[in-house]
Amino acid sequence: MSNIAGKVVVITGASSGIGEATSRLLAQNGAHVVLGARRIDRLEAITSAIHADGGTAEFMQLDVTKREQVEEIVNFAREKFGHVDVIVNNAGIMPLSKLEALKVNEWDQMIDVNIRGVLHGIAAGLPVMKEQGFGQFINIASIGAYTVSPTAAVYCATKFAVRAITEGLRQETGNDIRVTLVSPGVTESELADSISDELARAAMKEYRQISIPSSAIARSILFAIEQPDEVDVSEMVVRPAGSL
Ligand code: NDP
Repeated sequence: MSNIAGKVVVITGASSGIGEATSRLLAQNGAHVVLGARRIDRLEAITSAIHADGGTAEFMQLDVTKREQVEEIVNFAREKFGHVDVIVNNAGIMPLSKLEALKVNEWDQMIDVNIRGVLHGIAAGLPVMKEQGFGQFINIASIGAYTVSPTAAVYCATKFAVRAITEGLRQETGNDIRVTLVSPGVTESELADSISDELARAAMKEYRQISIPSSAIARSILFAIEQPDEVDVSEMVVRPAGSL
């Protein structure tokens, strides 16, 4: 078992894909995981499977666009386990389309979940971690935080923002709080299901054939957590070998 045993880790967007794989892997390594997402039936099933495997897991229904709900899950984790070691701000959506399609509601949703959701995680966790004198944020961006491609302008903008926020947080927090950005390339998950635009959906289906398993991203998150306290893994890009 790795040295993350007993660490309390709150994971947003834990009901599928990267969040689910991360919850399972961290629990297998002895962490106490607290899962949040909107689909509570999924969270219940994942939590039961972790318990059956001998792990420790709790769940709470969570909409990251609601600041008070993010506060609630962080406070719940702290009350249950006495402290919070890590918050993985993972929840995200990717309804791709060209700007000219004017899917303004989807732009707003991406801004709310992908940017505000991460900010809400920081707002909920930072005071707790400062008071404790330790903690770690792991924010999930994307290769879309580094380059922009057609249909992905707003999604990439949200991920550029996550990268900027994460770097700012890293610079502002002292050595007591670690800050890590994990940027996946194309990874197996349900992310493309949120695409309503037919053309973007078809293009993404083709592109996603090279996907790596979500467990690959989970392992990078485990790596960042299991480093000694004085070692901060600031940024990781994890993608299919050979992909652009
Ligand atoms: P999934 O769609 O499988 O998972 C997304 C998770 O976010 C789900 O658990 C979903 O749960 C949750 N979620 C969505 N909206 C909300 C909300 N308002 N409040 C709380 N939870 C929410 O996709 P991935 O696992 O791929 O996505 C995880 C992260 O990885 C995202 O930030 C994504 O942008 C990023 N990423 C993924 C890549 C990929 O190729 N898969 C590549 C680059 C980055 P629920 O619907 O139950 O709320």
